[in-house]
Amino acid sequence: MMAQYFALKAEAPDCLLFYRMGDFFELFFDDAKLAAAVLDIALTARGEHLGMPIPMCGVPVHAMEAYLARLIKAGHRVAIAEQTESPAAAKARGSKSIVSRGIVRVVTAGTLTEETLLEARAANWLVAVAPVGDAIGIAAADISTGRFEISETTPAGLDAELARLAAAELIIPEDFAIAGHARPRSDFDSVAGEARLKRLFGVATLDGFGGLTRAQIAASGGLIAYLEHAGKGTLPFLCAPVKRAATDHMLIDAATRESLELVRSASGSRSGSLLDALDRTVTPGGARLLASDIGAPLMDRVAIQARLDLVSHYVDNGGTRDAMRAALRALPDVARALGRLSAGRGGPRDLGQLRDGLGEARMLRERLAKGSDVPPLLAELLPMLDGHGALVDLLSRALVPTPPIDAAQGGYIAEGYDAALDALRSTGGSGRRDIALLEARYREQTGIAALKIKHNNVLGYHIEVSAKNADPLMAVDSGFTHRQTLAGVVRFNAPELHELAMSVTQAGAHALAAEAAHLEELVAAALARAKEIAATADALARFDVASALAERAVEGGWCRPALVEDARFDVTAGRHPVVEAALAKSGARFVANDVMLRPESRLWLVTGPNMGGKSTFLRQNALIAVLAQAGSYVPAESATLGLVDRLFSRVGASDNLARGRSTFMVEMVETAAILAQATERSFIILDEVGRGTSTYDGLAIAWAVVEAVHEINRCRCLFATHYHELTRLAEKLDALSLHHVRAREYKGDLILLHELASGPADRSYGIAVGRLAGLPPAVLARAKAVLSKLEAGRDATGGLAAGLDDLPLFAATMPEPEARDAVHVALEAIDVDALSPREALDRLYELKRLLQ
Ligand code: ATP
Repeated sequence: MMAQYFALKAEAPDCLLFYRMGDFFELFFDDAKLAAAVLDIALTARGEHLGMPIPMCGVPVHAMEAYLARLIKAGHRVAIAEQTESPAAAKARGSKSIVSRGIVRVVTAGTLTEETLLEARAANWLVAVAPVGDAIGIAAADISTGRFEISETTPAGLDAELARLAAAELIIPEDFAIAGHARPRSDFDSVAGEARLKRLFGVATLDGFGGLTRAQIAASGGLIAYLEHAGKGTLPFLCAPVKRAATDHMLIDAATRESLELVRSASGSRSGSLLDALDRTVTPGGARLLASDIGAPLMDRVAIQARLDLVSHYVDNGGTRDAMRAALRALPDVARALGRLSAGRGGPRDLGQLRDGLGEARMLRERLAKGSDVPPLLAELLPMLDGHGALVDLLSRALVPTPPIDAAQGGYIAEGYDAALDALRSTGGSGRRDIALLEARYREQTGIAALKIKHNNVLGYHIEVSAKNADPLMAVDSGFTHRQTLAGVVRFNAPELHELAMSVTQAGAHALAAEAAHLEELVAAALARAKEIAATADALARFDVASALAERAVEGGWCRPALVEDARFDVTAGRHPVVEAALAKSGARFVANDVMLRPESRLWLVTGPNMGGKSTFLRQNALIAVLAQAGSYVPAESATLGLVDRLFSRVGASDNLARGRSTFMVEMVETAAILAQATERSFIILDEVGRGTSTYDGLAIAWAVVEAVHEINRCRCLFATHYHELTRLAEKLDALSLHHVRAREYKGDLILLHELASGPADRSYGIAVGRLAGLPPAVLARAKAVLSKLEAGRDATGGLAAGLDDLPLFAATMPEPEARDAVHVALEAIDVDALSPREALDRLYELKRLLQ
């Protein structure tokens, strides 16, 4: 047995091995120690290996899922080794031979389909990345629903793409230097990958998928190879891959996602996030789609308008919206039911969910088709709701109204579907009735009123009497055969009962087999339409998202954003949805604020007291950009914006020690990334950058960063700071304007108005905020004294930033704008593919000349 165990373990060295023994899965050696600790179950020992007792622990088969869930959550992978023959078959091979076992499945976070192991409202991405040259291919599959996406990025963009997908499991080639689950390099070979893709989708060429690059094919190959490995050969259903270009959506890196709390709050939970404040969806599929929309705001104005048109439709028609939401609420999770069925882990209930979900979708379509003047997206989605008539009819005829999760006990095929099955069932049923009659007759015959005919798995049907009544039945001529004596009861068999029992059991077994055969056919019929069913599920999710966004917009008095060509960002009376909701709970009112960024006034420097609302103002505008491009209404009276290609949020000196870098270092690394990546279409919010170091260093860095954003990146930017000295930049940088959050001191108390006004703050209120926070009076008095000393010193020397006035303009160190433009224009005019090597060289000379 040990030899068999080690052989299985060698097949899955990076997994905990669940080794089936009877009603338990047992773990041994280090696996046992680890699992016992994670699961908090008893660690025991069994036998010996190399003279040492073998550590062991086990989990009961029937409760396996709950234990699996905890191990997967803790980041482990589990290989399930099942018995692949019956003990009787093993014995037949020889009295000493042990039951053969094989790994039937590898359970990993990225390959789950079980309802109990998945979060209903979140996608579960398995992501594979493969670098080929300078490109990195990304393949992402959610096998719980069949979604499959392929994209490509650069080393610099990888972080943002991975942050968008938030993979449950990331697989990488073994020699790739990022954190992930390393798989053999050969899995990511693009030639093998092409063959795998063709096989999976049964196509002769990949042309239909829209020209995949080598890196994309390599990543897809790595992903499919891993699915083959985890499923032990059975591949789940995947929709045809959707190709996403990195430029299809707003680029948002991991730090920005975290800082804006888009789908998770700083504490890691969903509550407190934008998604949580936004989400009014009524189906799990809708919730998953909304999370994905928020994570990947669009860059295509037409597509955004189409989504917004559908939301507007439901904003304007309250009755239609309510009806849609009521219909959706009743729907089962069709996408996940399909995922389980296609992974070979589905059961009768999943088919029942398809029947109900698809049936409901068809009714929805009939109702929707009656409406006139519908938005184009609705008209486009409509046909996807239908087309399953034959399958729904088949499932309706074949299945009972509420089929069980598990097929093992049978009873899920409806009466009238199969005459032979009905006959078997009635044989079984009449047999059971006959057994009841027999019981009555035996009682009469023997005069034992307490005689019972019972059934268990070991003896089957048998007669049971109490010990004191047993004697007459023990007699040889009684017609009863003794089977078993237990404390207090004695059990018998009898020829008549035996015969009846045989027919009942046989009919039962045949009925079960007949049901199983039907189940297989029905699953095959459903899977033959997997692609269309997935499309219906997608359409339903889109309806849910649109009507839920409409619900949210009406509830919060939100407006439809207007998207324009130029790079402006105008919002009147904007609000922060999460802060507003939090304030509302305590009965406080949120103060709405405007912003107006234009190419000629694109950088706002915001000053004002601590707690004044600077961060809130910055973030609410970043969130408005995300919401608008995701196709949602926004929390404002009006909003007009030009598309944002990349969004950056950097908050100074927050605590990132957990990531192993000093806070200031993190701040600088992220600021560097922003300066390197932001384009003229980007939107940056910088909150107190430079705060994490000494005053002079911090001020110097903040100063240089503002200048760089203004002169080089030239993008829209909101910059909050406590460095009043920075306000002097307004004199030099023409697209920079000054704003402050208002506060008033009244009878020694600080009143924060949370209202934005133009111009710099008149003074800082740090000590007043300290007082609000309850600093001891002695400390406050001392701080005041120190402050007045510092201020006196500053006035004498002309101020902390006085010397900065003499600095040459930042732009002076930059290349002349004309020269840069000329090179730019010349470069743009080159069609590289059309050049001969000779011409290319000539162009290079020309470009060099332009720089002189
Ligand atoms: P610091 O400089 O200390 O970081 P800050 O100016 O960035 O402070 P915020 O963190 O944005 O201030 O806001 C502090 C608190 O003020 C928020 O938690 C919220 O309760 C309240 N607040 C912020 N903005 C508003 C607003 N527009 N209306 C009402 N209350 C607000």
